[in-house]
Parts: sequence; structure tokens; C-alpha cells
Amino acid sequence: MELTESIKYIKGVGEKKAKDFQRLDIFNLNDLLTYYPKQYEDRTKFDDLSTLEEGKYAQIKGKIVSNVISRNIRKNFSIQTCTISLDFGGLECVWYNQPYLRDNLKVGETYIFYGKIKGGFGKFTIQSPEYIKEDLNTNELGFLGVYGLTKNINQKYIRKIINNALPYIEQFDTVIPKNILEKYNLIEKRDAIKLIHQPKTEEEVKKARHTLVFEEFFLLQLALLYIKGETKREKGIAFKNIPLDKIFNNLKFKLTNSQEKVLKEIQADFLSNNITERLLCGDVGSGKTIIAIILSYIAVCSGYQVAVMAPTAILAVQHLESFKEILDNLGIKVALLKSQMRKKERDEIIKSLNTGELDILIGTHAILEESVVFNNLGLVITDEQHRFGVRQRKKIISKGVNVNTIVMSATPIPRTLSLILYGDLDISIIDELPLGRKEIQTAYIDYTMEHKMNMFIENEIKKGRQIYVVCPLVEQNEELPLRSVEEVTKEYITNFPDRRVEYIHGKMKEKEKNEIMEKFKNGDIDILISTTVIEVGINVPNATMMIIENAERFGLAQLHQLRGRIGRGEHQSYCVLKLQTKGKVALERAKIMKQTTNGFEISEKDLEIRGGGDFFGTKQHGLPQYKIANTFTDLDILKEAQTETLNLLKSDPKLEKTENKLLKQHILNMIDTVL
Ligand code: ADP
Ligand code: MG
Repeated sequence: MELTESIKYIKGVGEKKAKDFQRLDIFNLNDLLTYYPKQYEDRTKFDDLSTLEEGKYAQIKGKIVSNVISRNIRKNFSIQTCTISLDFGGLECVWYNQPYLRDNLKVGETYIFYGKIKGGFGKFTIQSPEYIKEDLNTNELGFLGVYGLTKNINQKYIRKIINNALPYIEQFDTVIPKNILEKYNLIEKRDAIKLIHQPKTEEEVKKARHTLVFEEFFLLQLALLYIKGETKREKGIAFKNIPLDKIFNNLKFKLTNSQEKVLKEIQADFLSNNITERLLCGDVGSGKTIIAIILSYIAVCSGYQVAVMAPTAILAVQHLESFKEILDNLGIKVALLKSQMRKKERDEIIKSLNTGELDILIGTHAILEESVVFNNLGLVITDEQHRFGVRQRKKIISKGVNVNTIVMSATPIPRTLSLILYGDLDISIIDELPLGRKEIQTAYIDYTMEHKMNMFIENEIKKGRQIYVVCPLVEQNEELPLRSVEEVTKEYITNFPDRRVEYIHGKMKEKEKNEIMEKFKNGDIDILISTTVIEVGINVPNATMMIIENAERFGLAQLHQLRGRIGRGEHQSYCVLKLQTKGKVALERAKIMKQTTNGFEISEKDLEIRGGGDFFGTKQHGLPQYKIANTFTDLDILKEAQTETLNLLKSDPKLEKTENKLLKQHILNMIDTVL
């Protein structure tokens, strides 16, 4: 049986169960064998009466001393009990609705029981224990894998099926080069898979995990760096050396040193004959937009069109305004494409795009549609956290020939992680904020301090400033004791009867949202209640307060992004984290937010407390999810894997050596299917 064949052919599965497995994303043999345990039950040790603890699982060897008694409590509900004797006393076993146990368990015989312990000292029971005959030589003892389950698939069943499938592991090849295997004491892939499912000791789990985690990091890293190498060898569009004084004369400010530096880096890319694929990384408020505008200007003056992609329509509209403000009187044509648009308007835009009359097209994912055809696309800029998968990127790039791309991200990432998340791109970092910004002051409070806070808000509004309030929910929900936009809006209207209070959330129509944002921008709203729709990119420098309700519900990355909406102008800004419950992680996060506004520092801390992890999930960055590796707990292995990938590519950049043939095949396959 081949690894790509459906699991329905495995002994014990069949059509129906195969359907159940699909809910776990298990379709073929390969999926099943690489469905790794989440944790393990230590079934190597036995408990006795002195080690039992209420609520904990226990494994006990005991002799049955009384027949199983079955009592019918009511219709369709019966209880089975029996007593077993241990070395120093006895214990009662309890099952539910299993009357057949009367025939299965025999007085005088010894079994191994495993189940949850209930009751206090001296009166313990073991609940619905699994049992096996003591003398049975099974693989049911040892370190047992505990798998993620779904309806109709229980622990015992999945263990059995994996056991049935294990003979096929012979087909797994070890792709990691031999010298690396030896250097880090790694084992063959097939052995690792066998051990990860059926280890005998904790040591074996460790060994298997090390190999599998290493392989996962190694292959992803290698694939990304390989793509980068390939891209670098391809010929790209070179832009001209365009003088920038005209555009600089149009700016109200001078670029920061950091902005100058990244601009130079990208300009150098642009002038070369290689394709540019670069990540422009800069903390919130560091001024990435103006860089995007200048780069677009260079592309247009070189005779090419530009596509600018934003994750939300609100942001796209904002970009349109920023671009137009600077480029309109330089004779450059900019337009916006949205999914919700009148046909006539849309047709006109597409037409002017075809003829080349339009220079810059800004939009959401709508730009990717087939019908959007450029005349001469030369540059694609994607903004904010949207790292497209490799295949998606190919799709954009295919709208032009050897197009240059810039990815802009406000996610500050430590270097080790940027290499694995963005290894296929060059990276430029803006690491300072424009001069004159005052550091945002952050406080965390509980709900007893609301009155004081409201006075503070009133004062800010009197000074002409505006306020954001962010809530985790749109509508009140009986089951979740969280604050909603609906409820909070009512409160603010009551508490601030003379002020203009409005709300915005993702469920509203596009048009309504844009109108509200327009009003807020123009200063026609004092307090804006919202969900995290305002999380990314919104730029209203007059807003000086960000109040976050149920701040304990948000991860550090999100809190940082939200806070990044304020402190964008000359005024002192304030961020208030309102905590409803003060769990340890929530407090720790709040403290970090109070201590620093530096995104890189915050992201390092996030990595340390490992609570949120929202900065660094692969999925968030458009990459496949790991099967076993964990960016936080396996950081050391990640570093090992990175060292080795870099070494390997140094000695064999195109993976052409015979000993790397298998590896190359594997990488190409990955690039085609999962990246
Ligand atoms: P982000 O990097 O988060 O996208 P923006 O590009 O929205 O940040 O810029 C934030 C604000 O800073 C904008 O109002 C922008 O006009 C302003 N800005 C950008 N660069 C500078 C600069 N060099 N000096 C002063 N203000 C700047
Ligand atoms: Mg931005």
C-alpha cells in the first residue's frame, strides 16, 4: 500500500471510518502516520493506594475479588461495580452501561486497570477504567500516545489503526543528509515515526521528536531559502534611477534616517537586473506608507504600473487618499478597486488599466481576480500581515512579467524567526519612529476605576482629541461574559450625552464602515467604539486615546497593533487596558505593555511567555502549519536546523550534488503542494 492511498484500505478502517478520519485532516496513509500524539500516558508505572489522587489518572494492577454486579438505575442507565484487591487494601471499580462486563471480568484473575480516580482517602473508586489481562503481551503498556480525537474515533481505536498502519513506515525515506544526522544524533525517519507512536520510554519520545522537529524546520527553511536562490538567479525588471526631488518637495516632513536607509536598499534592488522580493518590516507608525508611495513613483516613472494590495477595504481607501495626496499633482493616476463596486465604475477602471492609462491600482484581494488585467505591471506592494503563499504570489506575478514585489509588515520579528517565516525574501527594517512623537503612556485598570477614566476622557475631548474604544464582541452573548460594541456604545452614550459617540464593526456594510471612518478622520466623531476591525493600519493622528475592553482577551501582538493606532501625531497619547479578570498571563502581558512600546521588545517577550504566540504562528504568515514543531519550545532545534540549511546551500546552492538529489525532489514537491 502506497503512502498516498486512502486509509480506507487499512485493516479496521473502511469507507465509513475513513469519513470520520477526514475531520482530523487524515485522508491517506501518509496523513495517518504523520498524525502525531499530542502527549503521552505513562503506562509503565503502577500506582498503589498511597499514590492515588482524586481527579488524576492511575494505573493499577489488581485481582478481582468480587463478581461484577450490574444494577439498573433507570431505563437505559445501569452501573457496574466490582472490588479489586491491591497489596494493601481494596478499591472499587465503576463502569456505566456495560452490563457485559459481568461475563468479561473473572473473579480471581489479575488485570491492569487504567482510569480516573474519584473520592477521598480510604474511599477511592476508579472510574470506567480500561483493563487488560496482566499476562497479555500487548503493546498497550509503555508510553501510550494520546491523540486528538473526533466523533466516532476514540483513543483505543486510533492506537489500533496506527498500529495496523505502522508496517508501511518502510516507505518513509530519510531526506536529511547523513552527516547532519550524525552530528545531531538524529535517527532515520521511519524509526522516528515508529518511536513517536509507540515509544517505550520518555527518552525514546525525545529522540523521535528531535528528529521529526528538526526535519520539519529543516525542510521548510531549506524550501524558502531555495526559492530565494532561484528568484535571485532570474532576470527581473530594472527600474530607472529616478530623481526624487519632485516627490520630496511634496512631503510635509523629512524622512527619518531609517526610512532613508530602507529606501536606499530597495532602490539598489530596483536598479539591478534581479527580481526584487523584499519584506519591509517596520513597527506600527514607523512610516511605511510613504516608502510605498515613493517606490510606486519610481516604478511609474520607469514606465510600469503598480498594484497595491491591502487586507481590508477601509485600509485600501486610506491608502488611496495617502497616495493621491502626494501623487495627484505629479500627474500620476491612482484608482481603487473594491469587490463591492458599480459595474460601470469597475469596467472603466479595468479598461484604463488595460490601456495603461491608469498607473497605480489600489485594492483588496479583488485585484487578484482573472478579469483584472494590467498593461505593464512592474511592481506589487502588499500591505500589513498579508504574506501570500508562494502559489498566490505566482498568481499576482503572472499578471506581469518578472514583477518586483514588496511585502510590508508591522509585525516585528526576532531574526531567527524572520528567517523561517520570511526566508524567501530579503528583509529591510525601519527601526525608528518619526521625530517628535511622544511615547504613549499605558495603564491597566479594573472596572472600579471607570469613573476616573471617564473624567480623563472628557478632558481629552475638551482639548479636541478623539478616542477609540475596542471590544472583543459585536453583540452581547449570554454565554460569554465579555463586553460588546453594542453594550459599550450604550454606556458611552449615557455617560457622555453631549459627545458624538458612534460605533463600527466588521459585520456592517462596506459603505457604512467607510462613512464612519471618514467621519472619524474628519473629526466629526469624538468616541468611536469598535471591534478589532481598526486593528491594522488605520491612521488618524488626532486620536490620542485607545481604551481596550477585556484586554485579557487579546494577545500581545494584537494589543501592540491596537495601541499603534494612537501616538501618530504630535499630541501625548494614552492607552488604557481594562482587565475584567486578572489571570497570570493577562497581568504579565499588561505589565509588558506598560513597560515598553517597542514592538521588537514586545515580540521577544511574547516568545518568552509563550502564552499568546500570535506573532509567530506559521499559518499567520501564509505557511503550512507544523505537524509537530513548536516555534516556542523548539527554538533551539530551529537554530540547529537553520545553521545546517545555510551551510548546505553554501556548498550546494542549487542542490545539484547526487547525495542531495532526494532532498531536492522533496523540496520541489513541497514548493508545489504546500507552500
Ligand atoms: P505605518 O508604518 O504603521 O504604516 P504610516 O505609514 O501610516 O505608518 O505612518 C504613520 C504616520 O506618520 C502618518 O501620519 C505619516 O504621515 C507620518 N510619517 C511618516 N513618516 C514620517 C516622517 N519621516 N516624519 C514625520 N511623520 C511621518
Ligand atoms: Mg500602515
